[in-house]
Amino acid sequence: MLSILEVAIPVPLNKTFDYLSDQKVDIGVRVKVPFGRKKVVGIVLGSKEKSEFDKLKSVEEVLDKKPILDKTILDFLFWSAKYYHHPIGEVISTALPKNLRLGKDAKIKKVIGLPKEVEKPDFETTDEQQTIIDQILKDTNNYHGFLLHGVTGSGKTEVYLHITQAMLDLGKQVLVLVPEIGLTPQMVSRFESRLETNVVAIHSQLNETQKLDAYLMAKNTDAGVVLGTRSAIFTPMPNLGLIIIDEEHDNSFKQQSSFRYSARDLSFIRAKQANIPLVLGTATPSLETLKNSLDSKLTRLTLANRAGGATLPKVSLIDMRSNTDGALSKLLIEKMQQHLNSGKQVMLFINRRGYAPVFFCTECGWKSGCSHCDSSMIYHRHINRLKCHHCGDEKIPEQICPECGERKLEVYGYGTERLEETLESHFSNTPIIRIDRDTTRRKKAFSQHLDRINSGEPCIIVGTQMLAKGHDFSNLAMVGILDIDAGFLSINFRATEYLAQLLIQVSGRAGRNTEQGEVVIQTRYPNHPMFSYVLSNRYTQYASQLLKQRMCAVMPPFAHQALLCANAKVKQNAEDFLREVATLLKNIQMNSVEIWGPVSSVIEKKSDYYYFNLYLQSTDRSALHQMLSTFNQHTESLKLKNKVRWYLDIDPID
Ligand SMILES: [Zn+2]
Ligand SMILES: [Zn+2]
Repeated sequence: MLSILEVAIPVPLNKTFDYLSDQKVDIGVRVKVPFGRKKVVGIVLGSKEKSEFDKLKSVEEVLDKKPILDKTILDFLFWSAKYYHHPIGEVISTALPKNLRLGKDAKIKKVIGLPKEVEKPDFETTDEQQTIIDQILKDTNNYHGFLLHGVTGSGKTEVYLHITQAMLDLGKQVLVLVPEIGLTPQMVSRFESRLETNVVAIHSQLNETQKLDAYLMAKNTDAGVVLGTRSAIFTPMPNLGLIIIDEEHDNSFKQQSSFRYSARDLSFIRAKQANIPLVLGTATPSLETLKNSLDSKLTRLTLANRAGGATLPKVSLIDMRSNTDGALSKLLIEKMQQHLNSGKQVMLFINRRGYAPVFFCTECGWKSGCSHCDSSMIYHRHINRLKCHHCGDEKIPEQICPECGERKLEVYGYGTERLEETLESHFSNTPIIRIDRDTTRRKKAFSQHLDRINSGEPCIIVGTQMLAKGHDFSNLAMVGILDIDAGFLSINFRATEYLAQLLIQVSGRAGRNTEQGEVVIQTRYPNHPMFSYVLSNRYTQYASQLLKQRMCAVMPPFAHQALLCANAKVKQNAEDFLREVATLLKNIQMNSVEIWGPVSSVIEKKSDYYYFNLYLQSTDRSALHQMLSTFNQHTESLKLKNKVRWYLDIDPID
C-alpha cells in the first residue's frame, strides 16, 4: 500500500514536504527524493493518510534500515528550530555530518581508540576540587545546572576528568564542549590518557570520514566521551549522563552564519530534556551566566585557588599617552629582558595579524581601502600584498599615491608580523615564535610551535587570541598585552565585558608554576575603571558592575533581543526591505516589543553587499517570539524579499 511521508529537506522554507512511498519508513530515516530538478537527501519526520497536495512524487530510495536520528535528538532539533525560527530541514542538516547529508552509508570505516593503559595523575585533587566534584555528583539522575567558576590555573579540567570518569563508571556518556581554539591536541590527549573509554573528538580539522566515524561511535555508545566544538551539541548520545561546557563565555559557541544557534544556550535544553547535570566552567563568566547564577538557575561552585600553590600574576599598566618609542615601550622591553635573563619565557599578545593595519600617504592622507568593503587593507610583508581581512581580496601595494601622485606611501600601526620584526632588532639572540593564522596554516604547524614552547627554552612568543586560552606553558613568566585600546572605542555594548574577559584569560597564561607571573598592559586609557578591577584580579566585581549598568539600561541579559539583518548590492533595497519588515512587525501590535532601525551595520559594505540591521527587543521573551512566529508566516507578502538576502539572529552577540 502507498503511504505518504512527511520529509524535511535542507531548504530555507518553514515546512516539510510530502512524498509517496510503497513501504513503511520509520521516523528519523534518510530518504533520497526528487526536489525541483535535483535529487536531495531528506529525513522522514512522519507519515499520513492524506496530503493537501495532488500529484505527489515518490521517494526514490530509502537510505537507512534504522533511524539515523532518534526521538530524543529529533525533539531537541525541533525545539532548536522553533526557538531560533529556523527551517527544520536546515537545522537537521546542520546537525548531521556532511557524509550523512550527502546520502553516504552510515557505516564506521575505522574504529577510533584501542585498548589502552589509563594514566593515573601524579597528584591528588585539592580539597576545594574534591568538594566541588562531590557536589556535582550528589545527584546525577536529575537536571541541575552548575557554574564552575575557577580562576585561571585552578584545575577546572581536573574536575572535568573526575566527574567524567564517575559518570563513565555508571555506564553513562559525557559530552564536553570546548571553544574552537581550545580543542588542542594536548586537550584531546589529556582526556584520552586519563579516561577508561573511547574519547572521540569532533572538530573542523577532521576529514569527513573521521567526522562520520566519531558521530556513529557516539550514537552506538562505543564512545563514552565526545569532546567537540559547538556543533557537537547535536551529537546523538543515547546514554548521555552529563554535559560540560568549558570556557562558557567564549563567543565561538555561537554560530555566526546560516543557523545562528548558541551551543552554550542549547546545552540547558539538552540537559533538561535528558534530565542530567550541566556544568558551565570558566574563569570569567559571561553576564548571562552570572545572572543565571544570581537568579539561582545555576549553582555557583568556586575554585578560588590556583592548583599546585601557584599565585595569580601581578598586573601593571604602562601609560602609552606620552610614549614615543613605537609599539614597545622602554619599560616593557626592560621587563622582558629581566625575565629572559633568568631563563624564562615571555609572551606578547596583539590581536591583529599581518604587518600593519594602515597603508597611507604621508603627503595627502590617502589610505588604501578595499574596493569591495568599507575597510582598510592590511599590509602583509612576507608576500608584499595588501589584503582585506573581510573579503580576502588582495593587491600589490601602490608605488605612487593614486590621489596626489607623490612617492610618500608608508605603513602605520602594528600587527604580529611587524611586531616580530621589531622584536628581532631588540632581542637579536632570543628565539621568537609567532603564532597567528598566517604561521599556523600548514597542518601540524601549530602543534610544532607549541612543542617548541613546551620544551621550556627561553623565548619570546608573539600571538593573537589563538593563544588566549587552553594552553599551559609552565616556563612562561610574563605576558605583555599590546594594543587593546580599540575595545574601549567599540560601539558594541558588550565590548568592555569581552575586553575584561580577554585580559583575564590572557593574563592567566603567566606564572602557572609556583613563581608569581607578571602581566604588563600597555594602554592609552590607564584611567579606565575596568583596569582597577583587572589589576587586582577582581573580575566578578567588575562583571557585577556591568550587570548593574545593563539592568538600569534594560539591556541583555535583562532584555531579549533579535536582529533582522538584510543585505543587498543595491544599498537602497536593503534599507527599504527592512522598512517594509518594520511596518509588518508594527502591524502585529506587540506593545512590549521595541523595534529599532533600520540602521546600517558597523561595516556597511562587505564583499560588495550593503548591510542593514533592524533590532527587536523585549523584556518579555515569549512576546518577542510570538511576534517573530507571526512575522515568519507573512514573509511572502514582503515585496522586496527577492531583491535582498536576509536572516534572523536570535540573541545576537554583536
Ligand atoms: Zn597622497
Ligand atoms: Zn574587502
